[in-house]
Amino acid sequence: MSSLGKVYLVGAGPGDLGLVTLRARELIAQADVLVYDYLAHPELVKWCKPECEVIYVGKKAGFHSAPQGEIEVLLVKHATAGKCVVRLKGGDPFVFGRGGEEARTLAKNGIAFEVVPGVTAALAAGAYSGIPLTHRNTSSSVVFLTGHEDVEKHELQIDWRSYGALKGATLAIYMGMGHLRQIMAELIAGGLAADTPAAVVQWASLGRQRSVVGTAATLADQVATAKLSSPAIIFVGEVVRNHAQIDWYEQLPLFGRRVAITRTRDQNSELREKLDVLGAEVIEIPLISITKDVSKDSLIEILTELGGYDWIVFSSANGVRYFFEEFLKGFPDVRSLGLLRFACVGKATAREIERYHIKVECMPDAASGESLAEALIATGSLDSAKIIVVTGNLNRDKLVKKLEAARAIVDQLPLYKTEKTDLANDPVADDFRQKGADAILFASSSSASSYVEQSDALELAAGATKPLVGSIGPQTTETLDDLDLNPDFEAKSANLDALIEALLAKLGPR
Ligand code: SAH
Repeated sequence: MSSLGKVYLVGAGPGDLGLVTLRARELIAQADVLVYDYLAHPELVKWCKPECEVIYVGKKAGFHSAPQGEIEVLLVKHATAGKCVVRLKGGDPFVFGRGGEEARTLAKNGIAFEVVPGVTAALAAGAYSGIPLTHRNTSSSVVFLTGHEDVEKHELQIDWRSYGALKGATLAIYMGMGHLRQIMAELIAGGLAADTPAAVVQWASLGRQRSVVGTAATLADQVATAKLSSPAIIFVGEVVRNHAQIDWYEQLPLFGRRVAITRTRDQNSELREKLDVLGAEVIEIPLISITKDVSKDSLIEILTELGGYDWIVFSSANGVRYFFEEFLKGFPDVRSLGLLRFACVGKATAREIERYHIKVECMPDAASGESLAEALIATGSLDSAKIIVVTGNLNRDKLVKKLEAARAIVDQLPLYKTEKTDLANDPVADDFRQKGADAILFASSSSASSYVEQSDALELAAGATKPLVGSIGPQTTETLDDLDLNPDFEAKSANLDALIEALLAKLGPR
């Protein structure tokens, strides 16, 4: 091999983050360069290390994706420079993904590579629409086909009639939406019974999944009425009948509902997961971005005196991450923390601390700075105690003042900064502006105020659905009221499950 670099052709699955393989996740975390296109979930990018160069080669509004040749040149270039390059592809890289072409180019150039399979769209579409691809009695083979057509040619490239003549098979057609009517007509002309069950599943495995079930003869009209489009899988075969009985995903209580949440704190990933599990399409509006911004002076002062502190207090998972990154640079052994006690604001932050096998001794029921101070005071250990409060650039005055009032000696350790996202150019914000949502949930008063601060950039377009506004509790409701954004519903107790319960009650049955 002529270089030290290596390229990983990695399948990213059909969209749902839970369907990404462990190997893929491991490699994304190691990558020096990540090359991805539009079908890969944007969240995947967050698994990269901060210095990873992320290159998007998918379609941008009004532009085509980068030509295949250019992508291959890019892979070769970075690998030759000794980089660990991850080329992420939707689904599986070797199923209609041009992974084979990329692998050949790499082989030709003497570059080491590895191929990591992914859950291909047809498997996900089957699972998430209750359509098993095979069945003991009716379907003993599955054919993956592409309906993609060379625009220069007027005839379909595949001999669809011969597939229409197949008996006991399930057809799974990728990229076929542009020629759906023609494909069905050809299959029927080849001998497929016109009343053979057929289905289309769009955006399989994602909250915005939609499906239509009919027959080979009716499918094209149904799809036109329902306005389904790409990306979608077309299924043809007896197995489609199972949908009526075993479609579990589209029966979930929030399926088909668009729920907006505001990403201001790490706590939101937990809210997102909870909504995902209930089948909602979650729109996570990124109001702020958090980047590491270490105050070197405070850091050195505090780390050299670490043994003298009683408590360290975290109000975000990012704070925990950045603290350990810095601490471990100076002290490779976690025992240098001595008997320092850990306190944190909520579960997501606690999870981050527990990754280091450290016990969280104090966490309030409600995730707010003030509740955290109260919980610490309730431990009865603050008189003359020395406390490190890890902060961002936004002050933590209330928390610090309360602790000081309880006679603690507080040193702040600023490790990150929080900045407003430019929503004018953000694709998620744009989706929200264009379509709106069924509901928007505020899980903290700070998210409510950040939202209002940026509300001009979030103004809904004509015809967009105006969301119901939900609040996690009295404090957040008060902020929303102050901001003239009166909530339509409030959680019975201030936690995420209660907030979701209130949402379900408000939306009622579909
Ligand atoms: N390598 C990919 C396929 C890429 S071709 C894989 O293994 O899945 C792109 C086509 O894949 C789309 O036109 C659509 O037919 C299908 N596809 C990809 N993601 C999909 C999804 N979430 N739901 C339905 N179809 C999807």
